[in-house]
Amino acid sequence: MKAWEANIRRVTPYVPGEQPKSKDVIKLNTNENPYPPSPRVKEALLNVDELRKYPDPNVYDLRKALADYHKIDINRMFVGVGSDDVLANIFITFFNGDKPVLFPDITYSFYDVWASLYNIPFEQPKLDDNFRIVKEDYYKPNGGIVIANPNAPTAIAEPMSFIEDIVKNNQESVVVVDEAYVDFGGESALPLIDKYDNLLVVRTFSKSRSLAGMRIGYVMGHEDLIAALNDVKQSINSYTMTRASIDVGVASVLDDDYFREYVAKIVSTREAFSKEMRELGFTFADSSANFIFAKHNKAKAADIYNAAKDKGIFVRYFNKPRIDNYLRITIGTDEEMDKFLAFLKEFLTTSGC
Ligand SMILES: *Cc1c(COP(=O)(O)O)cnc(C)c1O
Repeated sequence: MKAWEANIRRVTPYVPGEQPKSKDVIKLNTNENPYPPSPRVKEALLNVDELRKYPDPNVYDLRKALADYHKIDINRMFVGVGSDDVLANIFITFFNGDKPVLFPDITYSFYDVWASLYNIPFEQPKLDDNFRIVKEDYYKPNGGIVIANPNAPTAIAEPMSFIEDIVKNNQESVVVVDEAYVDFGGESALPLIDKYDNLLVVRTFSKSRSLAGMRIGYVMGHEDLIAALNDVKQSINSYTMTRASIDVGVASVLDDDYFREYVAKIVSTREAFSKEMRELGFTFADSSANFIFAKHNKAKAADIYNAAKDKGIFVRYFNKPRIDNYLRITIGTDEEMDKFLAFLKEFLTTSGC
């Protein structure tokens, strides 16, 4: 073995859901939005001549649009290349202690990857048997806390009071609430940033704003936390946000009617789909997100996953302890969900379930 081989930073990477090459599939596997972004986004993308110039390293226009939208000071807003970039920056910036960072055993499976990459010790308290977070598990010495709310892949949301309890009991730690799905039904912890200087609330444009392909995420919190984050980001790459993503982000934020209309559409599809799924013998907690996390009372999740894939319908299956008999199914259009239900009916009948 060469000496340099021992110096390689090795990590087992996060594995995102498949992006099949064929357009001729029904994609219910990565929680993308089935509807296009606001028509204003298209107009914003025509600003090609300006691309010769570097973008604004402080991303003022987008931070301002978002700060106005959420009625907070612009110094409490940080923007990144999707919330994955924002979260990676949070892990590097705030989790530099010896005590373990805490997040649930079943949650967004990127958290443990960042912790491993940056040599951050971590512990994963178990969700209870109903996949609920046990908040008392977080009342012990720690180097930081990360909670997805609504949680992924369970789709279960906890109320603001629950999050406040965790924040209140951990005022010596930075507590991060990942609200990737909050627009679909959860209660945001955002009002708590006025009260607690150790809280960060992370959001993304990828799901509710139909902009997964543009990569825009952001975080809100006390201005000292935001300033620290900004220093780290500016020490890696000043220009993470492109001119196109800044313009598109502003256009999306300004079209609030469109945003609300399509979020409501997905929520109504989710409710109708959930009812049908229960009639087919699936059990799952009520979803506060744009997906459901379900298991069937007879058929195996892996079998359904494979059979669906053969028919060109992609859902997400995690071959992991405790959740290996569940499917995470993204809410698409009504037509897509009807096709998936038709597939399921046939599959369950032919397999005698
Ligand atoms: C999708 C998702 C993200 C990442 O979103 P991007 O903004 O596309 O990087 C972060 N956290 C959770 C819980 C998610 O589901």
